[in-house]
Amino acid sequence: MSVPLSSFAFVSILSALVSLTASIATWRRSAPGSSALSLLLLAMAIWSAGYATRWMDISVEAKLFWFKVMFIGVSAVPTLFLVFALGLTHNEAWLTPRRLTLLSIQPIASLLLHWTNLYHHFFYLSINLVQRNGSVILELTRGPWYFVNVVYSYTVIVIGFFLMSQGVLRLGPLYRSQYRLIFAASLLPWAASILNELNFISFNNLDLTPLTFGLAGIIYAFSILQTHFMDLIPVARSHLIENMYDGVMVLDAQNRVVDINPAMANVLEKQPSYYLGKDAHEVLDGWLQKTELLWDEVETRAELKVPKDPSRYLDLRVTPLYDRDRLLNGRLMVFRDVTERKLDEKRLRYANERLQTQLIEIGLLQSKLREQAIRDPLTNLFNRRYLEETLDRELARAGRESYPVCIIMVDLDHFKKTNDTYGHDAGDQVLQALANALSEQSRRGDFACRYGGEEFVIVMPNITKRTAYERARKLRRRLNSLQIPYERHRLTTTISMGIASYPANGDTRQALLRAADQAMYAAKKAGRDHILTYDQFLASEEASED
Ligand code: GH3
Ligand code: MG
Ligand code: MG
Repeated sequence: MSVPLSSFAFVSILSALVSLTASIATWRRSAPGSSALSLLLLAMAIWSAGYATRWMDISVEAKLFWFKVMFIGVSAVPTLFLVFALGLTHNEAWLTPRRLTLLSIQPIASLLLHWTNLYHHFFYLSINLVQRNGSVILELTRGPWYFVNVVYSYTVIVIGFFLMSQGVLRLGPLYRSQYRLIFAASLLPWAASILNELNFISFNNLDLTPLTFGLAGIIYAFSILQTHFMDLIPVARSHLIENMYDGVMVLDAQNRVVDINPAMANVLEKQPSYYLGKDAHEVLDGWLQKTELLWDEVETRAELKVPKDPSRYLDLRVTPLYDRDRLLNGRLMVFRDVTERKLDEKRLRYANERLQTQLIEIGLLQSKLREQAIRDPLTNLFNRRYLEETLDRELARAGRESYPVCIIMVDLDHFKKTNDTYGHDAGDQVLQALANALSEQSRRGDFACRYGGEEFVIVMPNITKRTAYERARKLRRRLNSLQIPYERHRLTTTISMGIASYPANGDTRQALLRAADQAMYAAKKAGRDHILTYDQFLASEEASED
C-alpha cells in the first residue's frame, strides 16, 4: 500500500517524533515534575501520531484503529498536564496514590466510552465516513460524553495553568523567564485546542492541537536540556532565599539590581519591586563609603553601620558571578546582621578589661598581704618568720659561695623600766626609734628583723667579724646619742649586743642565733651597754674556768 504523506500528515508525524524525543530526554530526570512531563510528552506524541493518519490514504479500518489509538493521548494529556504542573510547583505531596487514582478515573472512563462508542453512541452520536478531496474522512457528531470530556479537560488544564502562574509569581526574576517559556509552550496547544472546539478553523475540520505539540515539545526540551530548567529546582531556591534571614541582592554585569529578597528590601526600607532594575550605587547610596571596593573581581567583605540606625551592624559579602566563559556577569551581595555578635564582642572586651584591672588589684593585694606576713607592724622591720626563712637561704648560699655571714643580736637594756616609768606607749616609741636606727645603718644586702619583744637581729652577709664589730659600735653610739621625745620627756636608752659569725661560730641558723644570744647575754652581764663577740664570750668563759 502506497502511503503518500500530505504535508499535514508530515507535520503531525514530525510533531509526534519531536514530542517522543522530548519525552525520552526528560525521563528519569531527578527534577520536580520531570516524570509527569515525560509521560505528558509521550501522550502528546501518541495524539500527534494518531492524528497524522487522518491525512493518510489508508483503509477505513486502519483509520478507525488509529483514531482509537489517538484517543489514548487525547484522554491522558489534560490530567498529565495537571500532574506536571503540580510537580513543577513542588506540590507533589498533594499527589497521594488515592488522589492519583481519582484523577485517572475520568480519562480511563472517557477512553473506554470512546472505544466502545459503537455500542452506546454516548461519546459520538455518529461516526460517518465521507469522501472529501479524494480521501476518506471521519465525520463526527458530538455526543453528551464528548462535552463532559471537554469540560473536564479544560477545568483540569485551567487548574494546571493557575498553579504554574502561581509558581512564576513566587520566583525571582532570574528564573522567571525560563518559567515563562514553559508557560508559553504549554499555552500553545491549548489555544489551538480552544480554537478547534469553537470551530474557528473551517479547513477540513483541521485541529491544530496535535500539530503544535511538536513545537511545545521542542520548547520543553530546550528548557530542560539547554537551560537545565529542571535541574535548577528554582522554586526551592526561591523559597529559601525569599524566607532567608540574611539579605540577598543579585546585580547584573552593569550593577543593576535583578533580584532582591524581602530581608534585604526590609533593611533598605522599601518594597523589593522598588529596587529592581535600579543601579546598585544609587540603592546603596549612604551605605558604603568606599563603594569602589565592592566592585572588585574577587570576593569582598565589609562591615557597615546602618545609616539610620548606627547601633546596627551589617556584614556585607560581595561575590562576583561568572558565566561559563569566566566572564563577569553579575554579583551576589549578602548582608548579615551582626549587631548581636558585635555587642557580644563589646561585652566580652569590657569584661576582659574589668578582669584585667581586678587581676592587677588582686596582685597588689597579694603582695601587700605577703609584705604584711613578713613585716612587724610596730617597727615595719621584718619579723621573726621572715628571718628564719631568709637566714636559712642566706647561710646556704654563703656555704656554697664560701663567704662569712655575721649576725648581731640587739637587746634594749632595762626596757621594762622604761615601760614601767613612762608607760607602754613610751616603750613603743623607743622600739620604733631603735628600728629606725637599725634601718638607717643597714647596708644594701643587710636586713634587720624584730626577733622578739625588744630583741632585734641584724643579718650582714659577706662581712668580717671586725667590720661587724665596728658596725655594732657605730650603732651603739647612735643609740646613746638618741633623745627620744615623749610627751615632755626626752627618753634615752642603751643596748647590749652579741655578735656571731657563720660558719666559725655556728653552721646552722639555730647554732648561729644561739651563739649571738649567748654573746649578747654576756654583754648584759658585763654591765649592759656592751658589745661582745661570741669569740670574746668563749674566751671569757675559758678565762673564768681557768
Ligand atoms: P634587760 O636589760 O635585762 O634586757 O631588761 P629588760 O627590762 O629590758 O628585759 P625584760 O625581758 O625583763 O623585759 C622586756 C620587756 O619588754 C617586757 C615587756 O613588757 C616589754 N615589751 C615587750 N614587747 C613590747 C612592746 O611591743 N611594747 C612595749 N612597750 N613593751 C614591750
Ligand atoms: Mg631587754
Ligand atoms: Mg629581752
